[in-house]
Amino acid sequence: MTHYDAVILGAGPSGLTAAYCLGKAGARVIVVERGANAGGLMRSIKRGDFVLDLGRKELYTRFPEVDALWHELLGEDYRRYAHRSGVLYGGQVVDKEAKFQGPARGMGLGLQADMGLAFLWAQLKPGSRTANNFEEYYTLRYGKTFYDCFHYGYMRKFEGFEPAKLPAPYGVQEIPRFAFLGNRLSANGAVDERPVESRQMDWRHPAYGTGQLVENLEAGARRFGVEFALNTEVLALNVGDGKARSVTIRRDGVESELGGRSIITSLPIPMLMKMIRPEPPESVQKPPQQETAFKKSTALVYLMATGEPAFPHNWVEVTDMSYKMGRVVNYGTWNCKMVPAGKTALCVEYFCVEGDGIMELSKEDLLKLATAEAERAGLIDPSKIIDSLVLQLPHANAATVIHDWKLDWMVKASAYVRSFEGLLETNRPGLDRAAIAGIDAAKACLAGGPMDPRSLENAKSENAKG
Ligand SMILES: Cc1cc2nc3c(=O)[nH]c(=O)nc-3n(C[C@H](O)[C@H](O)[C@H](O)COP(=O)(O)OP(=O)(O)OC[C@H]3O[C@@H](n4cnc5c(N)ncnc54)[C@H](O)[C@@H]3O)c2cc1C
Repeated sequence: MTHYDAVILGAGPSGLTAAYCLGKAGARVIVVERGANAGGLMRSIKRGDFVLDLGRKELYTRFPEVDALWHELLGEDYRRYAHRSGVLYGGQVVDKEAKFQGPARGMGLGLQADMGLAFLWAQLKPGSRTANNFEEYYTLRYGKTFYDCFHYGYMRKFEGFEPAKLPAPYGVQEIPRFAFLGNRLSANGAVDERPVESRQMDWRHPAYGTGQLVENLEAGARRFGVEFALNTEVLALNVGDGKARSVTIRRDGVESELGGRSIITSLPIPMLMKMIRPEPPESVQKPPQQETAFKKSTALVYLMATGEPAFPHNWVEVTDMSYKMGRVVNYGTWNCKMVPAGKTALCVEYFCVEGDGIMELSKEDLLKLATAEAERAGLIDPSKIIDSLVLQLPHANAATVIHDWKLDWMVKASAYVRSFEGLLETNRPGLDRAAIAGIDAAKACLAGGPMDPRSLENAKSENAKG
C-alpha cells in the first residue's frame, strides 16, 4: 500500500483546490477521480467555436481567500462583467434589479399596475403581520404580484416543493406596514443584512469558462508534484479505531489500496456513506427517500445560434409556471471569449425531481421542449440554431442550497464523517463554498487538526443559496 500525506477523493473544485494548496505546501498528495478529466461539475465543454460551462452560471465568491486564489490562477483572464439578471414572468423578461431600467424594471403597464395594487393591499389589509415562512415574508412585505413575479415559480422549480414550506429568509419576524420603504434593499427585494464575509464580492468569470480554472488548478497541482489517478474509482473508504485509514480503488479492473495521513473527500455525502467500511450505523447509511433534496437531478439543453443574443441578461430565472424550464443562461453576455462575436449560446436548465418525467424524456424530446419554450419566451429564434447539446445529469443537483446541509440526516451523516480523525469532507453547494472547503481541508491536513466549519456556515438568511 502506498502512503501519502493526503489522498483526495474527487477532482471537483473542492478536491482540486485542496490538491493545489497542499502541493504548494510541499505535501505528498494523490487525487483519485473516476472521470477521464478533472473538474467535477466545474468543467467547461468545448463545442466548435463555443465554450459552454457545465455546473454553473455565475462565479460569485463570498470569501476573499477564494477570490485571491482565483485571481492568482487566472490573472487578467478573471474578468469582471456587468451583472444583470432577469425573471421571465407573464410573457415578459423583467430585470431583477432597478439599476438598468429604473424601478419599473422593464415591466409592462399592466404588470406595474397589478404590482402597485397588490403592494398597497399587502400594506393595508387587516390580519397578522407575522412572516412565518418564505412566502409570507415576501407577500406581506411587497405584495402577492411581486412575490409571483420575482420568486414563486422559480423557487417552486428550484426547490422542488412549495416555497411556503421554506423558512422566512431572516427567521420568523413581524413585517410592519410599508416596512420596505425605509430599508436598503438587495437585488431581489430582501433586506441585505448578511455578515460581510458572506456577501457577494465581484461578478467575474474566467475568459475561457470555468474549465480554465480547472485546467490551471490541475496544471499548478501537477507542477507542485501532485499525482492524479484519473479513470479510477473509489470503492471503499476504510476506517478503524476512530481514524481514516485508507481507500480502496479500482483502475483498469485492478483493485488496490492507498493510505493517507489525511483523506479528503469531495464525494456527495449520500454516496460517501455507502462507501465507508465497516458500514456506518443504519440510521446514516441512506438518506430518507421522502426528502426532495435527495431526489433531484438536472437536465441541460445548450442552444447555439447565429446572431446576437435576443436579451441582455446574464441569465433569466423562469418564474412563469407555464414553462417547465427553470433558468436560461446567456453565455454571450459575460465579457468572455466563450461565444464568438455575433453568435448566441444559451443553456436551458431543468431542475428535475424524481417522478416529474423530465429526466425520462429522450434527448430529442428534451431538445424539442427547450427549443419550443425558449422560442415562446422570445429568447431564441429556432431558425438560427446551428448546434445543440443535451445533457442529463442524474443525481446532480443544480439547485442544491446550504439548507440541504441542515437537514436532519445530513447533519447526522456529516457528524459521523467528522468523527473520524484525519477524514476531511469538502463536498459543498456552490463553487466558492467548495473552494473554501478545499482550502480549509488543506490547512487542517497540514496542521493535523479538524477543519474550520465556515464553509458550512449560513449567511443570516436561512435560504442563502449555494
Ligand atoms: C447544472 C448545475 C449548475 C450549477 N450552477 C452553479 C452556479 O451557478 N454557481 C455555483 O457556485 N455552483 C453551481 N453549481 C454547484 C457546483 O457545481 C457544485 O457546488 C460544486 O461543483 C461542488 O464541488 P465539489 O468539488 O464539492 O464536488 P463535485 O464538483 O461534485 O466533484 C466531485 C468529484 O468526485 C468525483 N467522484 C464521484 N464519485 C467518485 C468515485 N466513486 N470515485 C472517484 N471519483 C468520484 C466526481 O466525478 C467529481 O469529479 C451547479 C451545479 C450544477 C449541476
